[in-house]
Amino acid sequence: MVLEGLSVNSAKKLYIETFGCQMNVNDSETMVSLLKELAYEPTDSPSSADLIILNTCCIRAKAEQKVYSELGRLKDLKRGGRRVILGVGGCIAQQMGDRLFKRVPYLDLVFGTHSLHLLPEMVRAAERGERVSRNDFLDSETRRDLFPRWDAQSGISRFVTVMQGCDNFCSYCIVPYVRGREVSRRSAEILRDIREMAEAGVREVTLLGQNVNSYGLKSPGEPDFAGLLRSVAEIDGIERIRFTTSHPKDMSSSLIDCFSDLEKLCGHIHLPAQSGSDRILERMNRGYTRREYLEKIAALKQARPDIAVTGDMIVGFPGETEDDFSQTLSLMEEVGYADLFSFVFSARRETAAAKYPDGLTRREKEERLSRLQKCQDRLSLARNESLVGTCQEVLVEGESRRSGQIFGRTGGNRIVNFAADPALMGRIVSVRIVRAFRNSLLGELL
Ligand code: SF4
Repeated sequence: MVLEGLSVNSAKKLYIETFGCQMNVNDSETMVSLLKELAYEPTDSPSSADLIILNTCCIRAKAEQKVYSELGRLKDLKRGGRRVILGVGGCIAQQMGDRLFKRVPYLDLVFGTHSLHLLPEMVRAAERGERVSRNDFLDSETRRDLFPRWDAQSGISRFVTVMQGCDNFCSYCIVPYVRGREVSRRSAEILRDIREMAEAGVREVTLLGQNVNSYGLKSPGEPDFAGLLRSVAEIDGIERIRFTTSHPKDMSSSLIDCFSDLEKLCGHIHLPAQSGSDRILERMNRGYTRREYLEKIAALKQARPDIAVTGDMIVGFPGETEDDFSQTLSLMEEVGYADLFSFVFSARRETAAAKYPDGLTRREKEERLSRLQKCQDRLSLARNESLVGTCQEVLVEGESRRSGQIFGRTGGNRIVNFAADPALMGRIVSVRIVRAFRNSLLGELL
């Protein structure tokens, strides 16, 4: 069988650019694996690619603008004589569907978050010169059958999607509209994949979902998330377990207990507060108060005293006063975040908060963001400095940019650079921390 003059055995080049969260990173890996059956091999260069896919994010206006600018840059590649298929997947594709063809007339392929499994068939159609678009939403049962399987790729650390979608409808968030309702993957499938990963040399797994701690709650016969973690911890060969992202209101005491009971569970939790003010948390429809959030943090610190807490914070939410903002800063101090993703509020179509009156100027919001980030720089450096002199278990991931050094991550997800033989890659080694910076640590192999 011949496709556009290429034998199916001759490799065609696939370039994927991923925007947004780890779920998109994971989906891009799935795309690479799905497209192997059409003889596509990944390349780092869009100019040599036969198929270019932008896996998109629309969580903030900035992320969306970046995608449209990139599509603008790629237009020139479509002008040459060589045939290049240009596709858009992910959240913008789900939201826009074939309206994207109007906005970007040189686009060949649009596939939403629920159409990933159709990608090979859609690319085949695009190879025949058809323009194809799919952005249907699937029901939960169908989606449960379509969680992508692990594809034996190399690596020490892998993501494993355990659930998708979200039912929380935080007033600012587009995710429930582009990823759909919450659906949990069958635990038997998750555990089978992780066992196979362990046999293939994977040492660390990160369980992934928009709200992992509501895993299984709506699936009779399945364990809850704490139960799932306990089963993963029993798999030989897996030495480290991480998970992301958690919602504070679903952080159960049985999940908190896992931090004291499971040695393999890394001492890191990403628990987004989004604001430190009760008034704003209510307007955000987050479902917890500042006090409840801090109580969960206290319980986590009791379960694992050295736990590193990271989070997300939105600055300039409609109606945020200076007093609300100062409560966010004081929450940051109380928690002592190891790191924080912080953003200026971005109104998203379809969400409730897009209709809230917004009295703050762009400049006021930027000024608050800059104060918040300075506060976080100080907290991150202090947290890293507190590790100087300690001995940390580091999973070696690769060679550092600085020659002669390798790098890895502590259980608390801090990057450590240290001089050692790259042959240690994939091993967990003991490293003494000798110096701290804002974003990384310097260590000595013990
Ligand atoms: S929990 Fe809230 S912020 Fe997180 S994905 Fe769901 S709606 Fe969005």
